[in-house]
Amino acid sequence: MSKKILVFAETREGNVRKVSYECLSAAHRIAEGGEIVAAVFDSNPSQQVTSLAQYGASQVYVVSNNQLDPYTAEAYTQAFTQLLSAVQPDVILIGHTALGKDLAPRVAARLGLGLVSDVTDISVDDGEVVFTRPIYAGKAFQKKKSVENTILATIRPNNIPMQEADVHRMANQVDFAADIRDLKTTIKEIVRKAANGVDLAEAKVVVSGGRGVKSAEGFDPLRELAEVLGGAVGASRGACDAEYCDYSLQIGQTGKVVTPDLYIACGISGAIQHVAGMSNAKVIVAINKDPEAPIFKIADYGIVGDLFEVIPLLTEEFKNMLN
Ligand code: FAD
Repeated sequence: MSKKILVFAETREGNVRKVSYECLSAAHRIAEGGEIVAAVFDSNPSQQVTSLAQYGASQVYVVSNNQLDPYTAEAYTQAFTQLLSAVQPDVILIGHTALGKDLAPRVAARLGLGLVSDVTDISVDDGEVVFTRPIYAGKAFQKKKSVENTILATIRPNNIPMQEADVHRMANQVDFAADIRDLKTTIKEIVRKAANGVDLAEAKVVVSGGRGVKSAEGFDPLRELAEVLGGAVGASRGACDAEYCDYSLQIGQTGKVVTPDLYIACGISGAIQHVAGMSNAKVIVAINKDPEAPIFKIADYGIVGDLFEVIPLLTEEFKNMLN
């Protein structure tokens, strides 16, 4: 049975985030000839409407209200619930990002929708949508079918490949004025932490350091390798607890979940809580001086050695290859 799918298009600094295009690909898998629409909350949406159309949305709702910038859970919840009540989609897809994780449960609770979070795969079986999601800290995967008529799902970044953009595809733009009232929160100031430019959650290459890195300066060779590969630097909780780096870099059960094409674990033992955040990487390389370290059990390639000797050699080699 064909379905109407609505994708929440998350934007950052005016650009649609990659995970929202992945949500559009997910929508294509399950629409069965139905309608795929997108919603964007931005005051200057023309570029976003064009790109969302190219990735498969036939209609883009531009939700506006001057209380939507900057993001607050309250204002977005009010606006999004109003839009969903008007559009009445069968399935709603949102990226499993900080914003998506904040917004989706509130909207689902308000509208009494079913919610499936952290979806890594999506398909249709006998007309019903099947959502795959990790359980037991990523040790197993669970397949769920929807029992509710309308279901909201958050899609884990970097899992569902983006389909090719079709530059000739166009979408209708529908303006939707949200009625937002009685907000109890106001944003006074946004303090951004300095970042190295590549978003860890969406990076194709992650070079991660653990307690074996031994100091804050010990991360320098990892940063250099990440830069050569156009990747981001991550860390184990061991490294964060030891104050070698900021907790915003932590990967794992209580940190970020990453699914890059290449994950290089340097001086990380491979505790289950760390593995929960990176085991879905396409290729895992582990560098550890202990040949018995558990990380080697999940690594595709293992290098037994001192990371301070191995990483500069790798960096040099990649520099030569990529120049
Ligand atoms: P260690 O286990 O100390 O490993 C250091 C490794 O470095 C060793 O294998 C050693 O052989 C190697 N090494 C040392 N020197 C060198 C060298 N010169 N060259 C090469 N290798 C070297 N952890 C996370 O990472 N993320 C989480 O989200 C997380 N959540 C948690 C939640 C809970 C509830 C709990 C209880 C724990 C959690 N942890 C998490 C902690 C986790 O259990 C481990 O303690 C942590 O991952 C260990 O970090 P590590 O591998 O850097 O340190």
